[in-house]
Amino acid sequence: MINIKTIISDAKKILKEHNLCDNCLGRLFASKLGLASHQKLGKKIRSILRKNNPKSCFICKNMMSKLDTQLSKMYEMSHDYEFSSFLIGAILQPSILDRDDLIRSKFKLQGINSIKGDINREIGKRFGRRTKTTVDYQNPDIVFTLDFKKEECEIKPKPLFLSGRYTKNIRGIPQKQKPCNQCRGKGCYVCEFHGISEFYSVEGKIAKFLYEKFGAQQAKITWIGSEDETSLVLGKGRPFFAKLVNPHKRTLRLGKKIALDGVAIRDLKIIEKIPSNIIRFRSKVAMQVQTENEIKSSQLRNLHKLEKQPIAIYENSGKKNQRHISDIQYKKKSSNSFSLLMKADGGVPLKRFADGVEVTPSLSSILENPCKCTVFDFYEIALTKSL
Ligand SMILES: [Zn+2]
Ligand SMILES: [Zn+2]
Repeated sequence: MINIKTIISDAKKILKEHNLCDNCLGRLFASKLGLASHQKLGKKIRSILRKNNPKSCFICKNMMSKLDTQLSKMYEMSHDYEFSSFLIGAILQPSILDRDDLIRSKFKLQGINSIKGDINREIGKRFGRRTKTTVDYQNPDIVFTLDFKKEECEIKPKPLFLSGRYTKNIRGIPQKQKPCNQCRGKGCYVCEFHGISEFYSVEGKIAKFLYEKFGAQQAKITWIGSEDETSLVLGKGRPFFAKLVNPHKRTLRLGKKIALDGVAIRDLKIIEKIPSNIIRFRSKVAMQVQTENEIKSSQLRNLHKLEKQPIAIYENSGKKNQRHISDIQYKKKSSNSFSLLMKADGGVPLKRFADGVEVTPSLSSILENPCKCTVFDFYEIALTKSL
C-alpha cells in the first residue's frame, strides 16, 4: 500500500532543503502513485504543503518549463519532412544528471523515471499530439537529437530503400558515375553533398531523379551486374537497389516507367531493406565478335561445346569462379565476324570470355581463332532466386 502521508512527508523533507519545480517534484513520486502527469502531481503536493513555486529548480534549473523552445525548433525543422513516427534523444548537461542522482540517493528514492526519460516522454507526447505522429523506439522515420547543452536540435530521417529496374536504349551512357573529385563521394559543398557532381551516367540520371523526387541528399545504388558504356539494356531491364540518404519524402506516387533521356526506370518500389545476401542472376546477352582469322560457319558449330562445361574465371585475387552459359545461338556476319546470343550466369566477364584472358574455355580457345568482343547488349536480366 502506498501511503500518501509518507509521500507528503518525504516531499516536505526534500523541499526543506532544495527548491524543485513541479515537474521534478512530481517525477519523484509519480511512479509510486502510477500517475502520468508529473507536473500536476508536483502542483498538488506543493499546494498541500503550501509551498510557493520556486524561482529556480535545484535539479533542472527550470529547463522543464522551457521545453517549448525545443518543441518549436522541432516543429520548424520537421516541417518539410514526411514521417509518421519519430524518436527523441535528449542530451543534458551532466550537472543536471548529477543533481538528479544526488536527490535520489540522498533521500533514498527508488524506481523513479530519470529526468532524461521524463524530457523525452514529455516532449514526445506534445510533439506527437500536434503532428499526429507516434513515438517509435524500434524503427522511427525520423530521429531528433535535442542537445540541451548547446541548445541545438538535429533531425535525422531514416534512409529509404528502393528497388527497381532500368533500361538503356541508346549507346554511350556509362553505367557508373565517377565520384566528386573533391570529396571522393563522401559528399561536400562542391557536389552539394550528393557525392557526385555530374549526371551523364545511368547512376547519375537515376540518382538525380531520386534526389529531386524524394528530396534526398544521396542515392547509393547497388547494381545487379554491370555493363559497358556501349551496351544496351533492353527487355524488362537490369534490377538495382537504391539507398536514399536523408530523404524528405517517404511515399511514392510514380508511374510504372520513368523516362530519363536514354535511360528509363521501371517498377520502382519502396522496400524494407536491401538484401544482404549475394544475389544470383542470369542474363540473356548478345555479343558482337570479331575474329583475327577468317571464320567458317562449320567452325562456329563448335561454340555449342561451351554449353557442356563450366567456364572458369580467374580473378586477380587468385580466386577461381565457375559460371555456366547455355542456349547459344550464333550468326556469321562476315568472314571475320559473328554475333552470338546466349544465356550466361551473372559474373561472366564477357570481353574476357571472348579473348580468353584468364577465362577458360573462351571463344578464342574453342574456335582456335583469336576473338574480340566489340559490343554486348542485354536482352534480359533475371534473378535466379526471387527476393
Ligand atoms: Zn525541475
Ligand atoms: Zn564532393
